[in-house]
Amino acid sequence: MESVGTLIVGAGISGLATAAALEGGDYLVLEADAEIGGYCKTVHEKGFTWDYSGHFFHFKHAEIEAWLRERMGGQKIRVVEKRSFVSYAGRQIDFPFQKNIHQLPRDEFIECLHDLYFARAPAELGSGAAPLPETNFKEMLYARFGRAIAEKFLIPYNEKLYACDLSTLDRDAMGRFFPHANLTDVIRNMRTPDNTSYNSTFTYPEGGAFEYVKALESAVRPGAIATGEPLARIDLERRVAVTPRREIRFERLVSSAPFDRLVRLAGLSHDPAVFTWNKVLVFNLGFDRKGPRDVHWVYYPDRERVFYRVGFYDNIFDTDRLSLYVEIGFPRDAVVDVAAMRARVLRDLEREGVTSGHVLVAEHSVVMDPAYVHITQASMAEHRRLAGILRGHGVHSIGRYGGWTYCSIEDNIVEARALVSSFGAG
Ligand SMILES: Cc1cc2nc3c(=O)[nH]c(=O)nc-3n(C[C@H](O)[C@H](O)[C@H](O)COP(=O)(O)OP(=O)(O)OC[C@H]3O[C@@H](n4cnc5c(N)ncnc54)[C@H](O)[C@@H]3O)c2cc1C
Repeated sequence: MESVGTLIVGAGISGLATAAALEGGDYLVLEADAEIGGYCKTVHEKGFTWDYSGHFFHFKHAEIEAWLRERMGGQKIRVVEKRSFVSYAGRQIDFPFQKNIHQLPRDEFIECLHDLYFARAPAELGSGAAPLPETNFKEMLYARFGRAIAEKFLIPYNEKLYACDLSTLDRDAMGRFFPHANLTDVIRNMRTPDNTSYNSTFTYPEGGAFEYVKALESAVRPGAIATGEPLARIDLERRVAVTPRREIRFERLVSSAPFDRLVRLAGLSHDPAVFTWNKVLVFNLGFDRKGPRDVHWVYYPDRERVFYRVGFYDNIFDTDRLSLYVEIGFPRDAVVDVAAMRARVLRDLEREGVTSGHVLVAEHSVVMDPAYVHITQASMAEHRRLAGILRGHGVHSIGRYGGWTYCSIEDNIVEARALVSSFGAG
């Protein structure tokens, strides 16, 4: 039987970053798909460049970005000042909605401000009244922003995205990706707009997100990635992994496969109902001529519109043909009728004025399944319990889906590097 020091499952950002951090050590990467990259793949079609879904970057660790760039051989990287909006009742409101309620019609502005004030006043102004409960995501939205902001934007938008009852999600299900704002921020923004967020300025390689995958791959030992070879079973006691081609004994295994699948492959008893997620159908669409300018993406809370977000690659690349990604959320068990969705997307793009008689000249679609995991109290507790058992057998579950979390590619790289250094220390 073959044996290896570290068996890595998945050649997405997390798996490749793990291999790169092992620096030529004794490892093998198993990748189920025929191609590396996981969700960070890029499609080039008739002069259009699209990712699986809009992927934009804002590195917090300068050394990680520099390390990647050194391996990107002259690749031009665009630096873009984000312009994002909410499409609300025929208007474009600056994002985030909660900080720009003064852009709403007067009666709706007063409604939002009134509800925000009375939701926040107990906590922020020390009125003595008990603050509203925040035991889950939906309650957090009501407690922090008041009924009107919650019901006009935050709830319908997030329900379209997560495709679930928001009261099942943990209060911090979106972590640092949620644009919080307090009463003072909202009032100040009326006179001194400051809509900065974690990704106010973002970067994007001319060749698409896959350029970061190639950069990581360049630090992986040639021949160390086995594509088209899924992990099919793990014998935890013997530390043996089984694929359709072979059995491999490992000292340790690092998996970036979705956590619910990993625990199944390892035969750990657990409650599968605890792990739920949405899937996202993405359409990448290329048209014959330019569309709206000065916008990078738009959020759509209106339940009449099939999509929750549309992004404009042509305004990121400064090109002269409308190039869109369009995202639609579904519950994990939904049957996705791509043709029916495509027709609705094209109709809704016209209704929103994104297209006006444009001719579609290129297209691509993909279902990301899972896309956003549902972070709940139960999923966090069960993940902690099962990950502990796996670690006891030398199996480490990392990445967006292995960690059952919400994160960026930079977070994946940071996590992979920290794990590999912990091996050295241990
Ligand atoms: C809609 C959407 C938008 C996003 N936008 C951004 C963004 O703008 N910026 C950003 O930084 N991040 C963004 N992300 C997050 C980013 O895509 C992820 O953090 C990153 O791609 C996750 O990499 P990963 O390696 O952890 O997982 P994955 O990319 O899922 O890779 C896991 C790999 O494991 C393989 N695998 C699974 N099971 C097995 C098995 N049994 N055997 C072998 N291989 C297996 C899969 O084929 C896959 O290649 C976005 C994610 C989504 C869903």
